[in-house]
Amino acid sequence: ELIRKTVGDLLADRAGEMPEHDALIYPDRGLRYTYREFDALCRKVAKGLMALSIEKGENIAVWASNVPEWVTLQFATGKMGAVLVTVNTNYRTKELEYLLKQSESTTLFLIEDYKGNSYFDTIYELCPELKNCEPGNLQSEKLPLLKNVVVLSEKKKYKGAYNWSDILEMASNVTDEELDFRSASMEPDDVINMQYTSGTTGFPKGVMLTHYNLTNNGYNIANCMKLTDQDRLCIPVPFFHCFGCVIGTLAAVSVGATMIPVQEFDPEQVLQTVEQEKCTALHGVPTMFLTELNHPNFEKYNLSTLRTGVMAGSNCPIEVMKNVMNKMNMTEITICYGQTESSPVITQTRTDDPVELRVETVGRALPNVEVKIVEPGTNREVPFHEQGELCTRGYLVMKGYYNNPEATKEAIDEDGWLHTGDLGVMDEQGYCRVTGRLKDMIIRGGENIYPREIEEFLYTHPKIMDAQIVGVPDEKYGEEVHAWIILKEGESATPEEIKEYCEGKISRHKIPKYIFITDEYPMTASGKIQKFKLREQSLQAVKDGAFL
Ligand code: ATP
Repeated sequence: ELIRKTVGDLLADRAGEMPEHDALIYPDRGLRYTYREFDALCRKVAKGLMALSIEKGENIAVWASNVPEWVTLQFATGKMGAVLVTVNTNYRTKELEYLLKQSESTTLFLIEDYKGNSYFDTIYELCPELKNCEPGNLQSEKLPLLKNVVVLSEKKKYKGAYNWSDILEMASNVTDEELDFRSASMEPDDVINMQYTSGTTGFPKGVMLTHYNLTNNGYNIANCMKLTDQDRLCIPVPFFHCFGCVIGTLAAVSVGATMIPVQEFDPEQVLQTVEQEKCTALHGVPTMFLTELNHPNFEKYNLSTLRTGVMAGSNCPIEVMKNVMNKMNMTEITICYGQTESSPVITQTRTDDPVELRVETVGRALPNVEVKIVEPGTNREVPFHEQGELCTRGYLVMKGYYNNPEATKEAIDEDGWLHTGDLGVMDEQGYCRVTGRLKDMIIRGGENIYPREIEEFLYTHPKIMDAQIVGVPDEKYGEEVHAWIILKEGESATPEEIKEYCEGKISRHKIPKYIFITDEYPMTASGKIQKFKLREQSLQAVKDGAFL
């Protein structure tokens, strides 16, 4: 039942079965590739990478938004065996330096700029030697392992860097036989992708994922959504994250669906793309769907072709889920839960699950995947409906964290169970709910407090749009409960008023000691709230006495 193929062979299979079917459409540049054309392009780029002397198992990084070259590199490395290290588009100099060093990358592919920031300024700052060297000959003081810098542009030249056309040209130095020989030497258990956790909890770690991890996860996700070659999938979630490059591209290729990436998330561009390209499927984190639904021009667009898609990444308010089903016509949308370390999807709702379970739970384990809920820090399972830490086992568990055996040992136990660090409950039928993160759990005076419970309660306040609860060190109680609140447009409320609202409705120890009203939360590039930053802000505010 399990697939034992490389990512490269997965694409070759589709090219053989449905050569003239659309594989990748990129409206911004008027690009359209059939599966035959796309497979041929990926083979060419694979040869270009071999011409750069890139070996099997060598780590090469890509720092780009959702451009077609990103997907091409994904499947090209899938054919020649280099490990694609994915770089968050919001990274700046320090983060890039950390990642390139930690991952020991020898090559960096990058776009020219992103949201007004020149990526070249950043790389020239890190490696000033580039300005005085020939492409392929970089000798950098800060990044001694980095040899090649390649700009993902067909025409423009940058000093010291190759561009995309150079790679395509160099492909002619490598024969088809040489590429096929390389492909044949690759094993499904080889690492093919390294993704850095996005940093909602601190320092990013490199998650090593194999062909076997990814092809099986992609295929099963597609099946749960009933995705077929008739589907046209709009992908506005970032490729540098599993959501884009597994739940997006790999799921699509595993069934021959058409991929339609959106370069950078913009709600109106997503709506436009869905209408123009008659998309049948759309992915997003809850915030993306929320901004699409609330866009002033929402009503203008015809979304009647939509049917399914994946919502994942964080808990989705039930109201939003219902609106996506009703107003966006996505009656068969599914919810996925997982993390980078699990390739990423562990559980998913199925299109034929009862509708209440499709809005309220994160579904059941994917086929061939085990899930259990344990007392945190142990291997003892808790009874159904009781809260504990979610653990998973099966083909989906990562190979480990790159150059970090201690962290790997902490995450995967001796029996092969990955301890996710997420809190959840499971019922007799296997439906799961995610109730929080172990790291976010607050212990105040010995009592366990789950932020999500207080957040859910605060949402019931008519003036509150969003609420985030964090635990902050406190001398008396060990930790104290703080709330960060965003009010609905045009509303005003004082912290005292909100505290009064809590009185008598939730236990006294759960009532936030401090309530901060704010306009926005610190977010990761993939649209997640960085609670550790809110915690820092809270600490600072208390220190400053600004809110006392
Ligand atoms: P870091 O690992 O550095 O904290 P991150 O949280 O962004 O970064 P990811 O692997 O991208 O790492 O995110 C996985 C986490 O997102 C899960 O562990 C879980 O907490 C949360 N999550 C994912 N899907 C859902 C969902 N459907 N409902 C609730 N939470 C979810």
